[in-house]
Amino acid sequence: MRVVRSINDMRNVIADWRRTGATVGLVPTMGGVHAGHLSLIRVAGEHSDQVIATLFVNPSQFSLDEDFDAYPRDEDKDLQMFGEAGASLLFAPPIEEIYPNGHVTKVHVEGLSSLLEGKFRPQYLTGVSTVVSKLLIQAMADVAVFGEKDYQQLQVIRRMARDLDIPTVILGAPTIREYDGLAMSSRNRYLSAAERPHAGRLFSAISDIARATAEGADPIPLCNAAERRLIESGFRQVDYITVRDANTLEQYRGPGTPGRVLAAAWLGKARLIDNLDV
Ligand code: AMP
Repeated sequence: MRVVRSINDMRNVIADWRRTGATVGLVPTMGGVHAGHLSLIRVAGEHSDQVIATLFVNPSQFSLDEDFDAYPRDEDKDLQMFGEAGASLLFAPPIEEIYPNGHVTKVHVEGLSSLLEGKFRPQYLTGVSTVVSKLLIQAMADVAVFGEKDYQQLQVIRRMARDLDIPTVILGAPTIREYDGLAMSSRNRYLSAAERPHAGRLFSAISDIARATAEGADPIPLCNAAERRLIESGFRQVDYITVRDANTLEQYRGPGTPGRVLAAAWLGKARLIDNLDV
């Protein structure tokens, strides 16, 4: 598997592929690779002939008090895992390649970026839409694959690609989970051994809410009760646990309309996020 670090080198490899008639899939990541990332590589491989994984810990999506410096970085291991899963190119640019001196342009998806995650992580979604729009324009892939695990992010990216007329098809891939339902995440390593057995409770909570809401129950008291139970079982803080319209992430419109349960909660130093279809 080849590694390229400049936009130009990536575009040259893609141009060679295009001359043979190959289609191209793109999987943006920040590394710290786990089975969730590898599932995206496989989905991309089902929809394209050549798959590019990108590895870039994007500084613009971290607030100053977040974990940019501590974020797991192991390029050799990530490279090997991406290759085994079927990627043929790794684009791992240095920061200056993506944000050269004087870079001032941001891509902001109004509305969607201010809800939920946007209330707690003000930089995050604008940082993501900025870097992902750049990666999509740089690669001009046929498809790009993102995880449903970051559901609001996926909705923001879909909207950004549509609004900017980026022709790449955006695909969402299902969340890959641990044995107890905990959604895999590079940040799960921030959980201590004592905290880890409790982490699956977030998934249990949203599963119960999704089931009861689908059966017609009012989600508001369910979410309030789930929040109390999470705090009682050792979660430090629940940022939100809520049922929303699955497309707009605004208020859920009730039985028969698309719903999504979304939650974010702190267990020790780890901020866990998860979501489920109603
Ligand atoms: P990250 O490296 O955490 O920025 O994630 C890169 C991509 O992998 C994003 O599209 C995530 O939504 C996706 N992803 C992260 N965790 C999972 C998971 N457990 N299952 C499926 N996709 C995931």
